[in-house]
Amino acid sequence: MSTPTRITHLVNGVPWEGTAERTSPVFNPATGVQTGELDLASAELVGEVVGVAKAAWESSWQRSSLTQRTQVLFKFRELLNAKKADIGALITAEHGKVLSDAEGEVTRGLEVAEFACGIPHLLKGGFSENVSTKVDVYSIRQSLGVVAVISPFNFPAMVPLWFVPIAIACGNAVVIKPSEKDPSAVNAVAELWAEAGLPDGVLNVVHGDKEAVDALLEHPDVKAISFVGSTPIAEYVYDVGTRNGKRVQALGGAKNHMLVLPDADLDLAADAAVNAGFGSAGERCMAISALVAVEPVADELIAKITDRMGKLVTGDGTRETDMGPLVTAAHRDKVASYLDSGVADGATLVVDGREGDVDADGEGFFLRPTLFDNVTPGMGVYDDEIFGPVLSVVRVGSYDEGLELINANTYGNGTAIFTNDGGAARRFQNEVEVGMVGINVPIPVPMAYFSFGGWKSSLFGDSHAHGMEGVHFFTRGKVVTSRWLDPSHGGLNLGFPQND
Ligand code: NAD
Repeated sequence: MSTPTRITHLVNGVPWEGTAERTSPVFNPATGVQTGELDLASAELVGEVVGVAKAAWESSWQRSSLTQRTQVLFKFRELLNAKKADIGALITAEHGKVLSDAEGEVTRGLEVAEFACGIPHLLKGGFSENVSTKVDVYSIRQSLGVVAVISPFNFPAMVPLWFVPIAIACGNAVVIKPSEKDPSAVNAVAELWAEAGLPDGVLNVVHGDKEAVDALLEHPDVKAISFVGSTPIAEYVYDVGTRNGKRVQALGGAKNHMLVLPDADLDLAADAAVNAGFGSAGERCMAISALVAVEPVADELIAKITDRMGKLVTGDGTRETDMGPLVTAAHRDKVASYLDSGVADGATLVVDGREGDVDADGEGFFLRPTLFDNVTPGMGVYDDEIFGPVLSVVRVGSYDEGLELINANTYGNGTAIFTNDGGAARRFQNEVEVGMVGINVPIPVPMAYFSFGGWKSSLFGDSHAHGMEGVHFFTRGKVVTSRWLDPSHGGLNLGFPQND
């Protein structure tokens, strides 16, 4: 067995050369073999890295012209596009998702870099001439300084790319702390930024756990935090970060419902439920985990879904498989425990993911797709975000009952309705209390020029990711009122400025 590769921080354009006090193992989830040993940053090191970022912002990037920034952004876009397959392979090796899916997430991240290439247009302010006699007013948006990005394991490239290109395009310096479970993709992408000509220190990668996150939350020179992860940690990051005076957007967990009306195309709905339920082994924040079937369609829909599930190949994501392993052994075991608890709570286990073969060598962290029927609120399989390949069917009697169920859920990230009734779809988009809505589209992830974010316990803060909300999050506004010398406006006047 080969020795695990050391994975370390990238500070000021180069790999860190210190010795870590603490490290953490990184596994290939398809084989169960430890492939990496990750350096975990101490609070002291995080402080040093923030200092490096601040110096880079103050000395160069803050004052870089829009032309200089876009030259770097366009070059980065080209490099990322060229390296898509390499980065996809790194993702598969540490996360486990199949190669096509891994490359797909890089493509979605690339779209944000493309959006950020338009920063000269996105940062254009307003100008009003002669608002008062010979007085002009204009608005500008300026960078914040050092901003931090803290990302989850499930999209090791795409989630960081939701934030980093826009933060950099807006003139900030960035410290990113990726998930400790699959850290290599962020290092590879950071190297592309350097190759694209981004000055040293503008983007730094610190690896770590709670200690590094807390150090970022406490550091006075970190002005904004973009966090994505589970709801309890998102809420914690939001509370501590805002208490420390930072701007925080903290995207949390999800329980996404797909409402199927009796008039829906059931083949389309069955395909969508399987794709969105089991793609990336259910480890997507936009995965469908609750299928809400409006009777009388449940039996027919379940038969179609079961039939499709029988055709799925679970195994090593580098092979011809549909679904890879879960990210760690502990996560696989936790997800598998819901199969027992669901049965104990009275749900019907239609397809048991512990049975059947997987196409892989070694001791990978596999669990095949699982289907539950007769799930109701109050059961753990319904109430918890399982974050694995477990799809639960909830039977309801009407559209209203389905809507009430979805709106009562604590999460509000994504949802979808399947129907051929335009009026019903229109009602749903208006009445559902969820941030991202699909109509006959199961995973409605917005394009880069719209913004991504949920409602309720799926987002803390009021800014969604990327799109114009991203540009606003990473800048602060200033309004300038200007008058050039004119003798007729001279003289003393202590009154509040009024227009003439
Ligand atoms: P996680 O909350 O365990 O970790 C997220 C980040 O927080 C990581 O960088 C991790 O190192 C750090 N962290 C972990 N424990 C911490 C602690 N006690 N204090 C401070 N920081 C801590 O999440 P995960 O398991 O990596 O990712 C899966 C979760 O992310 C799911 O809940 C999923 O729904 C959510 N997610 C949400 C979105 C969204 O857009 N809303 C997108 C992707 C993932």
